[in-house]
Amino acid sequence: MPVSPPPLDNLWLPYTQMATAPAPLTAVATHGVRIRLADGRELIDGIASWWTACHGYNPPHIRAAVSRQLETMPHVMFAGLVHEPALRLATRLAALLPGDLERVFFTESGSVAVEVALKMARQYWINRGQPQRRRVVHFRHSYHGDTFATMALCDPEDGMHALFAGSLNAEPMAELPEDEARRAAFADLLDDCCHEIAGVIVEPLVQGAGGMKMHTAATLAFIARACAERGILLIADEIMTGFGRTGRMFACEEAGVLPDIVCLSKALTGGTLALAATVARRHVFEVFLGEDARRALMHGPTYMANPLACTAANASLDLFESEPRLAQVAAIETQLHEQLAPCRALAGVAEVRVKGAIGAVELAGAVDLDALRQRFVELGVWVRPFGKVVYLMPPFIITPDELTTLTTAVVRVLEERAARRL
Ligand SMILES: *Cc1c(COP(=O)(O)O)cnc(C)c1O
Repeated sequence: MPVSPPPLDNLWLPYTQMATAPAPLTAVATHGVRIRLADGRELIDGIASWWTACHGYNPPHIRAAVSRQLETMPHVMFAGLVHEPALRLATRLAALLPGDLERVFFTESGSVAVEVALKMARQYWINRGQPQRRRVVHFRHSYHGDTFATMALCDPEDGMHALFAGSLNAEPMAELPEDEARRAAFADLLDDCCHEIAGVIVEPLVQGAGGMKMHTAATLAFIARACAERGILLIADEIMTGFGRTGRMFACEEAGVLPDIVCLSKALTGGTLALAATVARRHVFEVFLGEDARRALMHGPTYMANPLACTAANASLDLFESEPRLAQVAAIETQLHEQLAPCRALAGVAEVRVKGAIGAVELAGAVDLDALRQRFVELGVWVRPFGKVVYLMPPFIITPDELTTLTTAVVRVLEERAARRL
């Protein structure tokens, strides 16, 4: 007999209108690419728990490493003290990232990693005697987090933070420079406001929560060049794209781009524990050095560099070394291309996009998200469309058959929608 869990009366759920939304499902266990529910059903996870579980669930190597760390030191503060898991992780991240991205600041969530990047960028210019350079340019359809400073960098119209428009910093928004006219407009924006711009922030190659929009390596390279020519800092938010999701270890690599600051989180611990990192190039770090204590970066989350999380991240990097993760992503990309293509012919489908282990179907017309989500669960898969996108971002270890189950479900649900049965 399944045990029924206590009622929901004391929880406040994320991104949910709790007056009308269907009750959430109760998960009791995870393994491989599957989530087991309290009622005994199992769902194949098509979105890797908000894009984190790149090795699938419960990878034994990460679990064993975290268990050992749990016995010696689950946590210790990170001021005046450091520890081996953080030192080793920082060294490994610096070695993996391009160029001299070599100074790692640890936090516990993606939004805070972006906040730290913003603070670094603004203080970089304060320390260099140009405090008026405080604006951060972002792009339409961007998503950089849910905190106040990061909400100001999300798309103000499409984004989910429109209600707060009045209390956010007014940061300049640009169109992604994808054609000649937009390249010229982007260059003009940078030239017009150069004296007050601290940096430009971009989600390289794929904009995630803003709608799974994709752009080319050439567009990314243009942004990087435009920043470099004007001495503007480039911040790459690789929180979603980092660790193989787009086909390379980091999306910036595909464009040969070396950002000044990189933000990492989601798949950093293989989807096991909360951890994020903001990594700066040497020239950024050096601007914070000097006799004056006020030049230092005044930031330090209580649980930063948690040893369990750092251990999990080290074990996750071991798996990237020992398992063919990037080859798996390439195979997923081929299969997504093939198996999502039939969606293009369906009524109510605007576009199908694939990059690495990301497959997105953008819908046209009104979308009944609750109905779609419920139908996916009935078909035994965990797929959660948002806005106008139905997308798959599976764990990299998914088998071709399991992936076929996911793509078949997407095609079927969108066929039902086209036939107006959903
Ligand atoms: C998820 C995400 C964030 C925010 O990370 P949280 O851990 O949810 O705060 C920021 N930027 C990008 C690109 C993301 O995908």
